Formats: sequence, structure tokens, C-alpha cells
Amino acid sequence: MPVDTDEQVGVFVIPPSALPQLVSSRACLQCDVCCRFPDPDSALRPYFTENEIAGALAGGIEETAFPDRRGSQVILVPASDGEGYLCPAFDATSSACRIYAQRPLDCQLYPLALMWDERHDQVLLGWDTKCPFMREEVPGEIQRHADRVMALLDQPDIRDEIVAHPRLIGRFQEDVVVLSPLPRLTVAVAGQWGSTPLHRCTLDDIPRLTTALDRSGWRGAQSLAAYSPVYHYIWNGLLAYWWVELHGALCLFAQSPDGWFMPLPPIGAGPIDAPLSAAMGLLRCWNGDSPVSRVENVPAQLVPEFERLGYRVTLKEPDYLYRAADLVSLAGDRYKSQRALCNRFEREQSFKADIYRVSDRQDCRALLAEWSRQKHVEELESFGAMLLADAASAHEIVWSQASALRLVGRVVRIHGRLCAYTFGYWLTNATFCVLLEVADRTYPGLAQYLFRETCRTALAEGAEYINAMDDAGLPGLRASKQAYHPVVMIPNFVAAPARES
Ligand code: SF4
Repeated sequence: MPVDTDEQVGVFVIPPSALPQLVSSRACLQCDVCCRFPDPDSALRPYFTENEIAGALAGGIEETAFPDRRGSQVILVPASDGEGYLCPAFDATSSACRIYAQRPLDCQLYPLALMWDERHDQVLLGWDTKCPFMREEVPGEIQRHADRVMALLDQPDIRDEIVAHPRLIGRFQEDVVVLSPLPRLTVAVAGQWGSTPLHRCTLDDIPRLTTALDRSGWRGAQSLAAYSPVYHYIWNGLLAYWWVELHGALCLFAQSPDGWFMPLPPIGAGPIDAPLSAAMGLLRCWNGDSPVSRVENVPAQLVPEFERLGYRVTLKEPDYLYRAADLVSLAGDRYKSQRALCNRFEREQSFKADIYRVSDRQDCRALLAEWSRQKHVEELESFGAMLLADAASAHEIVWSQASALRLVGRVVRIHGRLCAYTFGYWLTNATFCVLLEVADRTYPGLAQYLFRETCRTALAEGAEYINAMDDAGLPGLRASKQAYHPVVMIPNFVAAPARES
């Protein structure tokens, strides 16, 4: 992974606090595996600790690369050819790392890797067979290199750094050859974070989350859009999602710059008291007394139970639920303006609507940049501007993983240029959720047309309802969502442990 312009074949140069490198710069420069990733949510993108982030910023990497300054996986940037993603520290012209001297421990270790064993009860050191150099290296030399690295990992300062940043330990990978268990590191991590296996949420966990949500009984035609894994997964670049099994329930945790919280109550078919109590114990351990410890997206039917268990339950912005047929017909006076805008768009523009393909990704990116600029010129509410900046990494995940996430995407082109896109998903057979919509604001009626066509397609495929999610507390968004006349505002609650006054 790390590449430098200095040639160090066969020589281990050990700068202070750095690990020895086995792979030569010459080999690295000829290889196209490291520092480049097919998708923006790659689990293998490097993790930077707080100190390493400071070093990277001093080395010229932009602040936006790090969603959490206390430690985070880096936000990847699109490759200039539109194919795949790069670490923002990677110089594609020279194939070199721009911060080689300050590259993170994660990269210094590579092609060795820290990971959990399959049962998630031992930290292991392994070597990654994805590294072409390692496939040719003699096993004896790999083992000798691993021994040197293990001795360094046993140094208290390096071990403490790993314990403070458990995301440096990846999940089990079959293509990583195990070299040795690391019992002292395992004990140290368990001492800090508890012995409950905490799993980083990846694309592979979507079926597990879906099954748990199906069993929860919360998902119905008039349920919150949050009862789909997709709703959460797209933020996996910005937040770090983790899951753990507690008393037969699947508990999802999100790690934000403010601290840890549960984006959903414990998910399962049984009572929530035992898993909730265990989950809150973990939040207390990770957050201390911080008020950030909370459970979001609590359904109305669980509110009495949360209150009985002593939680303070408050309302947050509800989801807007519409009758699909209303949004397709746009009949009557109450939809007069939306109908007029749709008609105007169809009358004035020469356009083509199509399903989204991953090859549209580059055009979507250009549109999102232009749309964000338009929004800023219109002096978007400041909170809205923040949401927009945060949303960029979520859009990247949507464009890249639409098929894996079973997202339904549509694009509209005007004179061949992509001018609008939208994505949504089926919450149930009767409810289609509109996850996001971006439309060039210089074409009157384009957004209204795209929304109506999305609803038309969903209606034809069996949708009774359209869930347009919440308004994030933005007055402008609230007005436009209200103007479509929801049939139900689905209540959404946040529960937090009651605090003594
Ligand atoms: S920090 Fe440097 S070595 Fe690590 S992934 Fe980025 S470019 Fe590669």
C-alpha cells in the first residue's frame, strides 16, 4: 500500500514510530491494487487515528476527508477517469502517497493486516493475498517480517493506540492468511470495549439487518422509512455503523463525531428490555455520561414500553406518507401548481427518462455539484447547506451500490445531458420510499415531473403509498412536502435514558 520514491529493496528503514516495510517501493509503484478502491464504502479504505489525521492535514489533505477528527476511515474521492475511488492522499500521476512519512498505521502495516477471527473473539495478524508481491514472497520471509511487526505491536504506545481505535482491527477476511493470534492485544481491546463481539456494518450485513427488521413487526405500509437497512447504510461513509447480537436482538450502533447512539431500537421479535439494557450499558461505557446516548426512530408502538423502562421519549420530525394514486393523478385544485409545473416541463423540454445505470455515475456527480452550487446561490438555510455537504458521500454510495442495495434509480436527460436523478426503495410491497432526488433547478417543473413519474412507476408496480421521509426541520422542505398533501404524518420518537435533575 505505501509507496515512496525512495528505493528500499531488501532494507528495512525504521523511522521512529514506523513499522518496517516488506514490500519494496519498486514493487508498489508497479502495482495497481493499493490506495485505489472500486466503491466509496470499501471496508478496506484506510483508518486514521486523531494524531494521524493531524499529520495528514498538515501534509495537505483536505479536512473533508475525515468525517470525525478523533479518528475515522478516510472519505475516498472519485478517480479522475470516473472508474472507482482513490484515497485522497494518493497521487495518481506518480502512484505515490503524498503523505508517505505521515501515512497511518493501517497503511504502514499493509500487506499485513489486523483482523478478528471468524468467531470474533481473537485479534489476529495476517497477510493479505490481494497484495501481488506477497503471493511471490517466500513464507519464511513473511513470517520473519510478521515477527518483527508483532514485537512492535506489543509496544505499549502502539497497543494503546490500537485499543483506542478498534476500527484498526478489520473483520475476518478469507483471503487474509493468518500468521498469528495476538492474545495481549485481544485482552486489551476487550478490557476497553467489552467482550461482546462488535461488528463493523458492511454491505454483507444487509440481509442480516433485513431479516431482523422483518421479524421486528415494525415494518408495515405506514411505517417509518428508517425500517430499511438502506436508509442507514448510505451514511456509512460519514458515520461508522456497527452491530452486535444482544439477548437475541440485533442492536445497531452509529459512531458519530459527537459520540455513539442507536439509530434503531434493538431489532428482534422478543421483548426489548434485556437487549436495550445491555445496549445502553455499552453506550454508557463508550460515551460516559454524554447525552448523545439515545435511541432514534422509535416506533409509536414501542413508546409505552420505553416509558415503562424509564426513558424520556420525545417527538422528532415525522415521515410524510402520501397515497400513490394522488401523486400520480395530481387531480383537483389542491395540486394545481404541481400539475401546471409538470405540464410546463413536458411542453417546453425535449427530454428522455431512463433507469439509472452505474455508467451514469460521473454525470450524476457533475449534476450534484451544479445543484449544490444552485442551492448555495439561493442562500440555502445554513443547516440545509450542512446537510448538503454531508450528503455528498451518501450519494456516492447510492450511485456505486444502487444495485447491491436494491435501489430503484431513474434519470432524466435534456438534450442528452443528465439533468435529474432520483433513487428509492421498497419498504414493503405497498410502500415505496423516495430516498433522494436531485434536479437541475433551472428547468421549471423538472423536479415535479420526476417525482410524479417515480410515483407513477411505483403505483404501476403495486405501491399504495409513497413515503417521502421527513423534512429535517427545514421550513422550505416542510412547505413543499406539505403542498403534496400527506395522508399520514408518521410519528417518529427519540428515547434517551431519563437524567436526574
Ligand atoms: S494514506 Fe497513502 S499509503 Fe495509505 S491508502 Fe492513502 S495514499 Fe495509500
